[in-house]
Amino acid sequence: MGLIYYDWHINIFNMHLFRNLFLLTLLFLNFISGLNAQHFNTSFLPKKDTVNIYQEMLNDRSDDLMENHPADDIYNNIWTANRLNPYKIPIDSLPDSVKIDCRFFNVPVPGIITSDFGPRRYRYHYGTDLKVNIGDTVVACFSGRIRIIDYEARGYGHYVVIRHENGLESVYAHLSQVLVKLDQNVKSGEIIALAGNTGRSTGPHLHFETRYLGNAINPATIINFYTGKVHSDTYLITKKKSFYYQRDVAAAKKAQTKAKYYTVRKGDNLGSIAARNGTSVKNLCRLNGIKEKKLLQLGQKLRVR
Ligand SMILES: [Zn+2]
Repeated sequence: MGLIYYDWHINIFNMHLFRNLFLLTLLFLNFISGLNAQHFNTSFLPKKDTVNIYQEMLNDRSDDLMENHPADDIYNNIWTANRLNPYKIPIDSLPDSVKIDCRFFNVPVPGIITSDFGPRRYRYHYGTDLKVNIGDTVVACFSGRIRIIDYEARGYGHYVVIRHENGLESVYAHLSQVLVKLDQNVKSGEIIALAGNTGRSTGPHLHFETRYLGNAINPATIINFYTGKVHSDTYLITKKKSFYYQRDVAAAKKAQTKAKYYTVRKGDNLGSIAARNGTSVKNLCRLNGIKEKKLLQLGQKLRVR
């Protein structure tokens, strides 16, 4: 018995030794290939930017190199703090329907919707905006793990992304302060941040998104923000219902490429410009985000289509 036990130990030891020798060799070859790229045919070597992965594997002392993250089976073990949607899965490739467990929900802030998910003048709005005061606490809507903490001066401001065990991911943006750490596990209802007005924001609000495999779902189809509860304990994601808006996005892009502009001349008014370009005053106002009583300037460019 003693001998078998001893052999087993030797084998495990050898496995580690071989693995580490292998990794060290790869590291060394990477180093050499960087120095002598023009002298050797190094096409069999791994790319230079993979060197850190070998370094990380060498530093990793656990036998299980793959760490578990929420919903790994759905997300194919992709876990990165660098991008909101690293998955890049086209809508057509998503499963026809998926059931999401929505029990144990907590509303991120008790609030009034100030802007809905949907089309905006220049870009699509992939979340729901909720009224807050700066410093209001923001809580995780489901339990999960913090995947991203980042800052975008011209976008989300300070923001947090959580991957949830039920397969959804949620985004909390324009925060004044983040109170969690990367890779931290959080419970549903746990305080993760303080609300604010950072980034592209014209007043204190929480921009809140729900996503599945990187694709945004209108949060209001899952949550009733007026009651602060989910519509149902189960949310059924279907390609048609949950991602119907992608057709609007495509149509808006198409319309944008066909846009036509008119330069305001002396004597013009919205009525005459509309008549001249075969459109209506109402449509002109919608396209340009202006009111019907808006005074026009000579030389001003108006979108007419
Ligand atoms: Zn928003």
